[in-house]
Amino acid sequence: MNMEKIKMTTPLVEMDGDEMTRILWQIIKEELLLPFVDLKTEYYDLGLVKREETKDQITIDAANANKKYGVAVKCATITPNRQRVEEYNLSEMWKSPNGTIRAILDGTVFRAPILIDSIRPVVRNWKKPITIARHAYGDVYKCTEYRVPSEGKAELVFTDAEGNETFRKTVYDFECPGVLQGSYNKDSSIRSFAHSCFQYAIDTKQELWFSTKDTISKQYDQTFKLIFQEIYDECYKEKFEELGIRYFYTLIDDAVARVIRSEGGFIWACKNYDGDVMSDMVSTAFGSLAMMTSVLVSPDGNYEYEAAHGTVTQHYYRYLRGEETSTNPMATIFAWTGALRKRGELDNLPDLVSFADKLEAACIKTLDDGIMTKDLTGLVIPEEKANVKAVNSKEFIAAIRERLEASLA
Ligand code: NAP
Ligand code: MG
Repeated sequence: MNMEKIKMTTPLVEMDGDEMTRILWQIIKEELLLPFVDLKTEYYDLGLVKREETKDQITIDAANANKKYGVAVKCATITPNRQRVEEYNLSEMWKSPNGTIRAILDGTVFRAPILIDSIRPVVRNWKKPITIARHAYGDVYKCTEYRVPSEGKAELVFTDAEGNETFRKTVYDFECPGVLQGSYNKDSSIRSFAHSCFQYAIDTKQELWFSTKDTISKQYDQTFKLIFQEIYDECYKEKFEELGIRYFYTLIDDAVARVIRSEGGFIWACKNYDGDVMSDMVSTAFGSLAMMTSVLVSPDGNYEYEAAHGTVTQHYYRYLRGEETSTNPMATIFAWTGALRKRGELDNLPDLVSFADKLEAACIKTLDDGIMTKDLTGLVIPEEKANVKAVNSKEFIAAIRERLEASLA
């Protein structure tokens, strides 16, 4: 095809990754991006080999580049465990790159499913995606806890920086053994979370729901509720009203009931534990992990787009043995389109935005035409089963390219 490539002005921060997703990354670039876009990226190889070589400095550099340029796209990466330390002969069990990047950007992760007509959510009335925002800091994930061995008194004590004991409260007078837990959160972290949520709601022009258990937790959860309300009133109310979107706080129990009865199309902000559990429930109910997108949004408006799934290790081992794999590249492609669209919006490049839209549409069209990877074929509704053809990753991407070329011509 002979056409002018779409120009970019600011580079996109490109974070390469590991295993099967690293293989797909290359194919996606070669087949779906480079022929059409004069792709400008600042490349960071977050593959485990490079992380080891640089003592993980590459991850920090990539996160700082994300801060500098504003938009990044990331491939799935291995979070090393003991087995990986052996497999890759690592000098250290490097931390999760996502954790490192999130800590540097101070961001919140938003996860949303990609929907197609032939795969129906388990909840029949869900018609639009439900995006979950999880406050990935503190609470039970950073708690201190132990088993209480015997009868005795448990107290909650706070000593200020000058050494004055300002609070001492009895948690429970134990008459028998039991369990005890102390958890915390910080206003600064809750504020960042709130800013990211309001910001992303405005970006995507969706309602924002937030829920906690403030009726029971009159200080802890109440603080979350009050901070959200204060930030909304101060910084975002006007913009929300202008866009005709709503900020809506409700008790978590009520939120669950409403979410189930809803048709989707909103962002649900959750505390850490609620978000952990609810995001697994929502993603399973929508279909497949391979169709789940993810974006990290920082409170000051930096974005890192990725797929929610991992490096699909089992498929990679099959690939290394020379076997054919049918790994689904959808969420990884949508990470690219999300990042390109955002870059286009920030740099005022309508052609780039339109390219992102067309690439997404070509992906959906491919699936609507019944061409899919194996993970999806089993999920298709019975009426459509006869029209479905399972293909390998390369064939799937080639089918997307055909449709993309047709729509660009
Ligand atoms: P995973 O890579 O998401 O894969 C789990 C299973 O889900 C796969 O075995 C596969 O099932 C299915 N699956 C996931 N994505 C798929 C896709 N695109 N196409 C088709 N099937 C897909 O999770 P994991 O096996 O727990 O983790 C593997 C590695 O990824 C680990 O080293 C972990 O640290 C890393 N990880 C990274 C991230 C990240 O970078 N954001 C997130 C999670 C995990 P079948 O085998 O049944 O086909
Ligand atoms: Mg979970």
